[in-house]
Amino acid sequence: MGVIEHEIGHALGLWHEQSRPDALGYVTIERDFILPSYISDFLQRDDEIDTLGIPYDLGSVMHYGSTAFSVDQKSKTVVTRDSLYQQTIGQREKLSFYDVATINAAYCKDECKSEKTKCENGGYMRPSKCAECLCPDGLGGDKCEKNEAPKNAECGGILELTEEWKTLESPNYPDPGYEADQKCSWLLKAQKGKRVEIEFIEDFSFLCTSTCVDFVELKISDDLRNTGFRFCCYDKPETSFVSQTDTAIIIFRSQLSTDIGFKVQVKSTDAEPRTTIAPTIITTTMAPVTVDTPNVWADWGEWSMCSRTCGGCGIRSRVRSCRSKKCEGRRQEFGTCNLKACPVDKHCAKLLSNNRLCNGKVCTKNDIAISSCDAPQCCPPFVNVDGMCQSDQDAQHDELWLSI
Ligand SMILES: [Zn+2]
Repeated sequence: MGVIEHEIGHALGLWHEQSRPDALGYVTIERDFILPSYISDFLQRDDEIDTLGIPYDLGSVMHYGSTAFSVDQKSKTVVTRDSLYQQTIGQREKLSFYDVATINAAYCKDECKSEKTKCENGGYMRPSKCAECLCPDGLGGDKCEKNEAPKNAECGGILELTEEWKTLESPNYPDPGYEADQKCSWLLKAQKGKRVEIEFIEDFSFLCTSTCVDFVELKISDDLRNTGFRFCCYDKPETSFVSQTDTAIIIFRSQLSTDIGFKVQVKSTDAEPRTTIAPTIITTTMAPVTVDTPNVWADWGEWSMCSRTCGGCGIRSRVRSCRSKKCEGRRQEFGTCNLKACPVDKHCAKLLSNNRLCNGKVCTKNDIAISSCDAPQCCPPFVNVDGMCQSDQDAQHDELWLSI
């Protein structure tokens, strides 16, 4: 579905999201791994793209996925600066809220200009029918004041939080688990002046794909219109998250499979906003220029924490500074980490997802590799070899798939 919308997006004048002039604030492009004839698709187009004042959206249907046009189909060509977004990029389900907003801003900007908006939480008046609101993903009701209506499940709601933990979970969690094509959303409201704290608890498992197809999404930034962090695969996010404002949204979406799903506890908190586990943002502080000869690099700094706990699902990074006026080469490098396979899941017998996928047309070698339930599991493109996650082609290359 989204593939068609991606192409319609082009026809309406949308560029690839990663070509926006501000893209390098959100992603790093790994040119060395891009098939040479596709490099131009990754270039930033400073003069040609008018963003119309709409923020960068890592959940845009126009955004490339992690391994788009990769020479070996597994090395990442697009690395998100915030590692929690790595499996968000590349979705092809549908136009995102900001994709639609961009098209509306370009073609129907003034349609509802004379009317006073009633839309809340970042919604805006539908240009073709100004009395209606177009709501950000996860929101609904006449004014976007409620959670979005659920699909094929009884779930979701508005939760007024207190300082006591409350729990919420995906449909039929954990057994028999969620089914294909369900959607739920929860609108979480902290007490006045406080924030929303979210912690994943108990079992966690979703169909494992390099771009999440079945997922739980946390919208915890101060922009509820933008796409949040999407989590899938086997390893539970271990950190606790704290929203930037008094409002947060949790979205559950399944498109393809049956699996355990997620459970979280939520409460109102005074804690500081907390999102990313392993920041991969390059420090902008330049090292003092001390040397005249070019290409004098300082030593690499420490590796950041791995963003996930097992299965090769995570990513880590380190940076170094240039000690001379000019340096050639990378200031930042990324690596996979925590390559020990994720533990055998006690609910694995009902992980029907991969079997189902393999019976269809989209079965890949990776799907087969993770379709057995009795062995520890790895995230694509890795496969389990004696409890360690390795890529099938070159085991030695796994530790550092990106070096200078
Ligand atoms: Zn395209």
